[in-house]
Amino acid sequence: MSTWCQTPVKSQALRRRLWLRDQGCCQGPYCTAKAAWSLAFDQCYLDQLQRGKADGQTDAAFRILCRRCYVLRAANRSVGRIAAALGDGLIGPDWRSLVW
Ligand SMILES: [Zn+2]
Repeated sequence: MSTWCQTPVKSQALRRRLWLRDQGCCQGPYCTAKAAWSLAFDQCYLDQLQRGKADGQTDAAFRILCRRCYVLRAANRSVGRIAAALGDGLIGPDWRSLVW
């Protein structure tokens, strides 16, 4: 796992709950046709639907995403993540048109 995507240990339980709730399937717009359990637990990312402190928010405030959908999510955008994803070939030079 690369360092930029590591989640704090305290969110691991939350992550597992959401992964099970969403049946291991990315909730992003580019994966709507993906089958249940197609996204491995150690490859899922938590997306916070409501801004604010993560602690104390209910599970409904989160969903799981694959790395590609996570990187392209406008709210989560960071230059470092985009650069890493470009370097890995996960997204192409046209990534700006795919941001959601
Ligand atoms: Zn996805």
